[in-house]
Amino acid sequence: MAGGEFDLIRRWFARPAPAGVLGVGDDCALLPPARGALAVSTDLLLEGRHFFADVDPEALGHKALAVNLSDLAAMGAAPTAFVLGLALPAADDAWLEGFSRGLFALADAHGCALVGGDTTRSAGGVAISITVFGELPPEQALKRAGARVGDDIWLSGQLGAADVALRLLRGEPGVAAPAQRDALLAATRDALERPQPRVALGLALRGVAHAAIDISDGLLQDLGHILAASGCGARLRVDELPVAPALADVPPALRRRAALGGGDVYELCFTAPPARRDLVLAAAAGTGVPVARVGVIEAAPGLRAVDDAGAPVSDLPGGFDHFAERP
Ligand code: ADP
Ligand code: MG
Repeated sequence: MAGGEFDLIRRWFARPAPAGVLGVGDDCALLPPARGALAVSTDLLLEGRHFFADVDPEALGHKALAVNLSDLAAMGAAPTAFVLGLALPAADDAWLEGFSRGLFALADAHGCALVGGDTTRSAGGVAISITVFGELPPEQALKRAGARVGDDIWLSGQLGAADVALRLLRGEPGVAAPAQRDALLAATRDALERPQPRVALGLALRGVAHAAIDISDGLLQDLGHILAASGCGARLRVDELPVAPALADVPPALRRRAALGGGDVYELCFTAPPARRDLVLAAAAGTGVPVARVGVIEAAPGLRAVDDAGAPVSDLPGGFDHFAERP
C-alpha cells in the first residue's frame, strides 16, 4: 500500500513483542524454537465469501484469529504467535480501529502475539490471511487419524446457531416467523460472528482424546474426515446432538440440517475410549466447556445416523465444500 502502509502498520498492528521475540518491524520475525513440535495453521477469509462487507470489523478481527486458534485447539496445541496478511481496498481508520481491537482482544486472551504480516491495497474487497503458530508434544497431538473402534464420539458446545444466523442474514425464508426473525438473529449471531476457539479444552484433551477436529465445515463432513483418516466408521445418535436452545422454534427439519451440516461452528468433535469418560468430563469441567457423548466409532466404514429408537436417519445434509458442484 502506497506511503501510508508503514504508518498503518505502526498505528494499528505494531505492538511490543513478548520477551525473547523479535516482532513487527524487521524483515523476519524471530521466535525461540518451539518446545516439542511447532504447530502451524493458516486460514484465508475473503469478503463476500467468508464474511459480509458490512460485518462489524471488531467481530471480524476476532473471528479471523478465532478460526486459526480453533485449528490449534483441534490439534491440542498451545498458541504462541501469528502473522497477519491484510489486503484492504482503502485505509479506513474506523474499520482498522475496530478490526485491530477485536483481533488483539482475542490474541491477548490466548497469549498469542502478532509478530509480523504483510499489508497491501486490494483491487477488490477485504482479504485476511492469518497464519498461527503453536507448540505441543508431538506424541500428544490430537490427529484426525487417531480414532479407534469402540471410541466414544464427543462434541463440545452446541450446534446449529451459526448456520441459522447465516440463513437469517441471507434473508432465507422459512427459518422463523417474520415477527421472530430479529430475536432469533440476536440469539444466534454471536455464534456466527464471535466463535470461541476451544483452546483450553484442546489442551486438556491431550493424552485423553485419540482424535479431534474442529467443526468448520459441518459435523457430518468433519467427522467424516476423522473416519476417513482413521479407516473406520461411526454410529451417530442424532437426537442426542447438543443443538443450541435458541433453535427451539426453528422448523425441526431445518434444525436437524443446521446441527448436522451447518459449518462455522468451531466446536471440537473428538473421540476417546469409554474408559476415559471421567477424564473427558474432568477436562470439560476444568475448562468450563460442556461436552456431549453423541456416538461411537465402529469398524464398518461409513457414517450411520440413528434416532432415539435406533432407527436409521436418511436424508442427511452435506457439509460445506467450496468447490462442490451445486445444483
Ligand atoms: P517486507 O517488505 O520486508 O516484507 P513490509 O514492509 O511488508 O516488510 O513490512 C514491514 C514490517 O511490518 C514487517 O516486520 C512485517 O512483518 C510487518 N507487517 C506488515 N503488515 C503487517 C500486518 N498486517 N500486521 C502485522 N505486521 C505487519
Ligand atoms: Mg512485505
